[in-house]
Amino acid sequence: MKKFFVVATVCLTAVFCCGCGEKQTHKMQSVDTAMGTVIQQNIYTTDSGSKDTEEILALLSGLEEQELSRRLDTSEVWKVNDSAGWEEGSMLSSELAEILERCLNVWQQSEGAFDVTLGPVVSLWDIDGWAAGEREGSFSLPEDRLLRDALGRCGSGKIQLKDRRFFLPEGMMLDLGAVGKGIGLDRILDYLEGNEEITGAIISVGGSVLTFGEKPDESTWKVGITNPADTSANIGVLSLEGQWCISTSGDYERYVELDGVRYHHIIDPATGYPADSGVSGVTVLAKDGFLSDALSTACFILGPEKGMPLAERYGAEVLFVSRDGRVQMSEGMKKYFHKS
Ligand code: FAD
Ligand code: MG
Repeated sequence: MKKFFVVATVCLTAVFCCGCGEKQTHKMQSVDTAMGTVIQQNIYTTDSGSKDTEEILALLSGLEEQELSRRLDTSEVWKVNDSAGWEEGSMLSSELAEILERCLNVWQQSEGAFDVTLGPVVSLWDIDGWAAGEREGSFSLPEDRLLRDALGRCGSGKIQLKDRRFFLPEGMMLDLGAVGKGIGLDRILDYLEGNEEITGAIISVGGSVLTFGEKPDESTWKVGITNPADTSANIGVLSLEGQWCISTSGDYERYVELDGVRYHHIIDPATGYPADSGVSGVTVLAKDGFLSDALSTACFILGPEKGMPLAERYGAEVLFVSRDGRVQMSEGMKKYFHKS
C-alpha cells in the first residue's frame, strides 16, 4: 500500500548569472504539502527578497479550504454537497460555475468516463483511507449492494447548471479530485504572469507540473514520466520550452492490494470499480492545467483507442503506458519525449 508522505517546508535560494548591468537571478526552492499531496516549487526571480513560494502555497491552501475540498466544511464544494436535494438549488460563485461547465464538457466528450459526481463511490471505496495507510491489512471489497446504491447516486446527467444556479439531487456528491491539482496550476500561472520579477518556474502539485518562462542557462525544462512498473525510475523525459501543464494519472498513485489484485483510485463510472483499460499510466501535455488533469483521468479510463482522439479534440498531447510496459503516444508528443 502506498503511504502518504508528509514533507517539511524547505526553502533554499541560489544566485545565478551576473552579466554587465543585468539583474541577478535567484532560485527559490520549497517542498510542502497541500491538497493531500506534495508541492515542489523552483522559481527563478530577480527579487532577492521574494516571498513567491510562500504566496503560492497560501494560494493553493486557499483554493483547497475555500473552494474545492469536499472534506473541509469551509469550502464551497462542501457547502454545495450539503445542499444536495434542495429544491431551489444553490447559487455558485462564477469560478465554480465555470469549473463545473468545463467538467460537464469533458464528461460529454469522454462519453461519461470522466465524471465529477462520483463522490458517493469514491467515498465508499475509502480512497483517502488507503492514502493515509489506515486500511492496511483490513481492506475488503465494498459490498455489491452498497456499490450499486452509491453508483445509483452518481451521474453528471442528473445534475443541472443554469447560469450559476446548481441543482444537485439528494444523495449525490461532487468530488473534484481529478481536476483540483490542475486548477491549482492555472491559479499559479495567473500569479506567475502577474509578477514581472519571475523569469522562470517549474512547480509540481502532486502529479501535475507547470513549466513557465525560462531557466537562467536557457536550457529546456525536463519533466520525468514515472515508470509504472518501477516508480523509482522514469520511462522517459519531456523536454519543454516555456509554458506547459503536464498531468499524470496512474494506477500506482493510490491503491490497495487484495489477493494479488490491485484496486486503484481511478473509477470507471460504468462499473463503479477501478478502471480496467489495460493502462498503467497516462501523461497529458496541454497549455492549461484543468485540461491536462481532466484529460489524464479521462484517458486512463478510456485507454489509447478512445483516449487519443479525445486528447486531440482538445489540442492536447498524450502518452499511454500499458500494463505490459508498451508506450503509445500522439504524434505531437514525439517532439518532446526522450526515452530514458
Ligand atoms: P487523477 O486521475 O487526477 O484523479 C483521480 C481522483 O479523481 C480519484 O482519487 C477520485 O477522487 C476522482 N475520480 C476517480 N475516478 C474518476 C472519474 N472517472 N472521473 C472523475 N473523477 C474521478 N487526499 C487525501 O488523502 N487527503 C486530503 O485531505 C485531500 N485533500 C484534497 C483536497 C483537494 C482540493 C483536492 C483536489 C484533492 C485532495 N486530496 C486529498 C486528493 C489527492 O490529492 C488525490 O491524490 C488526487 O485528487 C488524485 O489525483 P491524481 O492526480 O492522483 O489522480
Ligand atoms: Mg486528473
